[in-house]
Amino acid sequence: MKRYELPPLPYAYNALEPYIIEEIMRLHHQRHHQAYVNGANAALEKIEKHLKGEAQIDVRAVMRDFSFNYGGHIMHTIFWPNMAPPGKGGGKPGGVAADLIDKTFGSFEKFKDLFSAAAKTVEGVGWAVLAYDPLTEELRIYQVEKHNLLITSGAVPVLVIDVWEHAYYLQYKNDRGSYVDNWWNVVNWDDVERRVRAAQNHGRSSLGL
Ligand code: MN
Repeated sequence: MKRYELPPLPYAYNALEPYIIEEIMRLHHQRHHQAYVNGANAALEKIEKHLKGEAQIDVRAVMRDFSFNYGGHIMHTIFWPNMAPPGKGGGKPGGVAADLIDKTFGSFEKFKDLFSAAAKTVEGVGWAVLAYDPLTEELRIYQVEKHNLLITSGAVPVLVIDVWEHAYYLQYKNDRGSYVDNWWNVVNWDDVERRVRAAQNHGRSSLGL
């Protein structure tokens, strides 16, 4: 089975300042994301040993562990390029993404309000996700608690925001709302557009893995 690797950030650790400080980005990428990569690989190793008859494993526990860590790896792999330095990031979407947002939510402002509310109200730790649903050919917003729910949905995430405390606490303390409000200044709409177009092609290659 394939092993996962930590993808490099597509910008410098301080590139998202002042909205997300360098210390957060460095720890978040090098420690937290790396831990999910390691955790997913460790679970795969156990499954492989089990398949070869070399080890007895608690299949349910290992599957759960894999789902959590793999989910974390995938979500962060989407999250980093979903952002870009202020100036390049921020503003409004164009293209197919803008059309679908208008069609689904009525306007960009309405979408932004709903997505922000979803992010601010995730219970405990998790994510808000904008996803393209190839079955209905529409966008939808959903919440993810921890990382686990990602693969229960056939929809393809195109824009995600991490609302685990490790994503903002060093800068915003417990003020998740200000973090979410400021995050819009670094949203990379070019990347969202690319993901929507890829998802329209049945989701193939949209994760960029
Ligand atoms: Mn995170």
